[in-house]
Amino acid sequence: MPYQLPTEDQNLAVESFRKFLQAEIKPIAREYRDRFIPKERMRELTQRIAEFGLPGCTISVDYGGMGWSFTTQGMLFEELVACSCDIALCVMLNMGLTAMLVNARPEVRERYMPDALAGKIFGSICISEPDVGSNVAELKTRAVRDGDHFIISGEKTWITNGVYSDVLICTVRSEKGLSHILIDRKEHGYESRNIEKIALGSQSTAQIFITDARVPATNLIGEEGEGLRNTMKVFENARAHVGTLSVGIMRAALEDSIAYSKERKQFGKVIAAHQLIAAKIANMAIMLDASRLMCQRVFGLIDAGVRCDMEASMAKAFATEAAVKVCRDAVQLHGGNGITKEFNVERLLREAIIIPIPDGTTEIQQLIIARALTGVAAFV
Ligand SMILES: Cc1cc2nc3c(=O)[nH]c(=O)nc-3n(C[C@H](O)[C@H](O)[C@H](O)COP(=O)(O)OP(=O)(O)OC[C@H]3O[C@@H](n4cnc5c(N)ncnc54)[C@H](O)[C@@H]3O)c2cc1C
Repeated sequence: MPYQLPTEDQNLAVESFRKFLQAEIKPIAREYRDRFIPKERMRELTQRIAEFGLPGCTISVDYGGMGWSFTTQGMLFEELVACSCDIALCVMLNMGLTAMLVNARPEVRERYMPDALAGKIFGSICISEPDVGSNVAELKTRAVRDGDHFIISGEKTWITNGVYSDVLICTVRSEKGLSHILIDRKEHGYESRNIEKIALGSQSTAQIFITDARVPATNLIGEEGEGLRNTMKVFENARAHVGTLSVGIMRAALEDSIAYSKERKQFGKVIAAHQLIAAKIANMAIMLDASRLMCQRVFGLIDAGVRCDMEASMAKAFATEAAVKVCRDAVQLHGGNGITKEFNVERLLREAIIIPIPDGTTEIQQLIIARALTGVAAFV
């Protein structure tokens, strides 16, 4: 896919979003560094961010969205991550909710889409379970048909937005196979419990407990039994966004490293003037640029309607591992200051270490890429 310059409209949208984020979101992200943002506070933020097009950027105008491209969405999303990976992660799941609602029954879509687009409700995508991580096909959460309803029971884990969530898009196993179904916390009931992590603790990653929730069959998203195929499609888009999480983290690490290297003096000159530091900065920029271009290629292919599972796996694997290396170099470049809470780079490194895990680990991406190239599956 040839490189395309951003259009004037894209540049304008990005510029005004960046100004807003710096003025209104960055101070709150700083205030809540390593502290949980309560739901109502997070809702205020998601509602403000929604005015700039996220989470409804790529949703058709007919459904109340902006009708913009995935490429534009990726550019806006990078700005949000560079400001706060925590808040971006929360908005990313709301993007997942709006994308899934497109395939909901009209009455379900009409009920939830306006609030989802406005950032008023929080959504979670629930696949993982205590015994089901990389092996999605072995998922256990049961949905038993009872007339016009399903009775759903099971436990989900690592669920982003879990404690915030008003609705779950839950992958369940029924007699026809895996399916997606919308579960409303107030109407059908489920419990959530937050999980403490090494970073990204300003937003929620949670366990979800569903006990005999009685959910109308009309809440199915797509057709019953088509959940695995739909999940794979969702992953394509999701993996480029997870890669973009790492792009935003790297960008913040590089910006901090450039500023520090021009200020800190050793051996009578700023450390930027030492060749090994210059090489570090150059390599960080190369990793960032390569990762961004790989993610943008996926967005461009999705815009063109071309399936790109392998390219999405490449972008996710490369960008998320690159960010770990870039952030480690950023800490090293800051010397002793790099490991203190006075500077951001230690937090960025902790965040970077997390991102190679969700939406398919690096190892799973490698298996997908190799399968696409050799035609031989090594999933054992
Ligand atoms: C911050 C965060 C947010 C998340 N958000 C969500 C969410 O919103 N919704 C959701 O459903 N899930 C979510 N997840 C879960 C995530 O998708 C899983 O953690 C991931 O799929 C890995 O599963 P696991 O943790 O059970 O690891 P396991 O599958 O147990 O893997 C353990 C290790 O073994 C490796 N491994 C496994 N199988 C193979 C194989 N065949 N060959 C080689 N190596 C292998 C893995 O790469 C890994 O290194 C989130 C996870 C994190 C960390």
